[in-house]
Amino acid sequence: MKRCELLIVGAGVAGMAAAVAAWDSGCRNLVLADRADRSGGILPQCIHEGFGLSAFGAELTGPDYADRWAAALKRTGVQLLLNTEVLSVTETKTAILSSREGLGELGFERLILATGCRERAVGSLPIAGTRPAGIFTAGQAQALINLRHQSLGRNILILGSGDLGMIMARRFTLEGKRVIAVVEQNDHYGGMARNHHRCIEQYHIPMLYRSTVSEIHGVGRICGVTLTQLDSGRREYISCDTLITAVGLIPERELARGLGDPDWLYLAGNCHRIHQVADSAAAEAEAIGKRIMQEGQR
Ligand SMILES: Cc1cc2nc3c(=O)[nH]c(=O)nc-3n(C[C@H](O)[C@H](O)[C@H](O)COP(=O)(O)OP(=O)(O)OC[C@H]3O[C@@H](n4cnc5c(N)ncnc54)[C@H](O)[C@@H]3O)c2cc1C
Repeated sequence: MKRCELLIVGAGVAGMAAAVAAWDSGCRNLVLADRADRSGGILPQCIHEGFGLSAFGAELTGPDYADRWAAALKRTGVQLLLNTEVLSVTETKTAILSSREGLGELGFERLILATGCRERAVGSLPIAGTRPAGIFTAGQAQALINLRHQSLGRNILILGSGDLGMIMARRFTLEGKRVIAVVEQNDHYGGMARNHHRCIEQYHIPMLYRSTVSEIHGVGRICGVTLTQLDSGRREYISCDTLITAVGLIPERELARGLGDPDWLYLAGNCHRIHQVADSAAAEAEAIGKRIMQEGQR
C-alpha cells in the first residue's frame, strides 16, 4: 500500500491553502485529493466579485480567486489527485479511494479533512404540502445557472436571507427573472451588510421579515406557496414557479464519523465551521497546514 505523510481531502480553497502551507513548512510527501475534475471547490460557480480582499487585496470573482490558489499550489510539489473520491477513512490511518483506476488504498500519517459543507434541503424543513419540481437549494440553482447556463423559472421566491439567498436574488434579477421576495423568519437579514446593500437594496428586491413558507402547492411543477406571517399568523397564497431554499449550510464531516478525536485528524474550512468569506477559510487552513508540520517536528 502506498503511504504519504499528509493526506488532504478536498481541493477547495481550504484544502489548497492547507497544502501550500504544509509544503512551505517542509512537508514533501503530501497528497491532495478531490472528487471533482478541477480544484476550487464551490468557487467556480461563484462568478460574482467579492473574494480575496484580505488575502490578495483585490475584489476577485470566485473563479479568479480559485485560480490564485491553484497557481500557488502549482509551484509546490503537492500531488493533486482529481476525480478521486475518498470513500472512507479507517482508525488505522488508511483511506479508501475511488478513481477512474478503480478502488485503492492510501496510508497516511496525518489527515486534513477540507470537504466543505452541504446545504440544508427542503425535506428537512417543517413545510406542509407537495414536493413538485421547481424547488432548488440556492447552491444547486447557482451551479445550474452559472456553470450549466440553465433557466430555472420566471417567478422566483427565495426562502432565507443569508449571503447565499441574497446573492441568488440578485443573480435571478440579472437573469431577467422576477424575484417576488426574499422571505426571512427573523426580523433582520441573515447575511453580511455588504451583500444586503449590493444584492437587495440596489435591485429593490422585496424582503419579507418574520415570515416563512408554511406550505408548498403544485402537482408536477410548483405553482405557489402559502406564506405565514409569524407574529400575526396571517396566511397568504403566493403564486410562483420556482422556490429557492437558502436555509443553512452544514459542515460535511461524513468521513470523520466513527473516528473519535484522534491526534492525527484535523478539520479545515467549511468542514470545520461555516466561513462567510473564503479568505477566512483559507487563513484557518493555512494555520493548520503550518501547525501540523510544527507538531510533527516535536
Ligand atoms: C454561494 C456562495 C457564495 C459565496 N460568496 C462569497 C463571497 O462573495 N466572498 C467570499 O469571500 N466568500 C464567499 N463564500 C464563502 C466561501 O466561498 C467558502 O467559505 C469557501 O470557498 C469554502 O471553501 P472550502 O474549501 O472549505 O469548501 P469547498 O469549496 O466546498 O471545497 C470542498 C471540496 O471538497 C471536495 N470533497 C468533499 N468530499 C470529498 C470526498 N469524500 N472526497 C474527495 N473530495 C471531496 C469537494 O469536491 C470540494 O471540491 C461563498 C460561498 C458560497 C457557498
